[in-house]
Amino acid sequence: MQRRSLVAANWKMNLTVPEGGSVAQGILGAASKRADTDVVLCPSFTLLHHIREVVAKSNVKLGAQDVFWLAKGAFTGEVSVEMLRDHGCEYCIVGHSERRGRFGASELPNELLAYFSDSDVVVERKLRAVLDGGLTAILCIGETARERNEGRTDEVVASQLKIALSSVDESEIPCLAIAYEPIWAIGTGNVCEPDEAQRVCELIRSEVGAHMGSDAANTIRILYGGSVAASNCAGLFKQRDIDGALVGGASLKPDEFSRIILSA
Ligand code: PEP
Repeated sequence: MQRRSLVAANWKMNLTVPEGGSVAQGILGAASKRADTDVVLCPSFTLLHHIREVVAKSNVKLGAQDVFWLAKGAFTGEVSVEMLRDHGCEYCIVGHSERRGRFGASELPNELLAYFSDSDVVVERKLRAVLDGGLTAILCIGETARERNEGRTDEVVASQLKIALSSVDESEIPCLAIAYEPIWAIGTGNVCEPDEAQRVCELIRSEVGAHMGSDAANTIRILYGGSVAASNCAGLFKQRDIDGALVGGASLKPDEFSRIILSA
């Protein structure tokens, strides 16, 4: 089955308004050549307003990096799905390993890691809120280096997926993409070998099939994320079960990200 490619940029906590505007401007040309690909920029909340204006007349879509699951109330510092929609977001990343407090290489001291602690259950609530609010979710799952070394990759990925998908209906699959992001590959330059990324993405597809049937499995878009660069993306994009990428560091460089968009 032919699935539409999706290439999403996760800018994390980077870029000021002028910097973000210039990066966004720099990828419009590449995106315009790829009518067959969804290109999504996920800047920090403070940039959404400006980036929305920069991409307004293009085929580039806007996404957020996180969201809170309730609609309003005394939740200082949080942002709701409706607020994201207000700013033109059509996508939202959910369950990024950095929000889950599961870092690969981090300079943060251990006591600070506890502040980033989305559990599987919180991720499920956020996913539910994003889908209920009519946005497309990019759900991140993936194992740490330790879990991989202990041979637990498949178990960890299947378990994260099972909890996140517990309330998702087959009809919602077009509004969901799953990003396989091995945590040891994020921001480390240690990209997962294409064969291995394919193996895990195939497993994810078959788990979706086991929970929701073969139509859902064939339709769902599965991305790879973790040190994707212009130099390594072709091998990943060739894989049968990889429909695109979630890109961190390389998405901050317009030329590099443009080359990734063009290879998708
Ligand atoms: C990410 O943060 O989702 C990511 C994949 O980062 P990087 O591309 O920098 O490894």
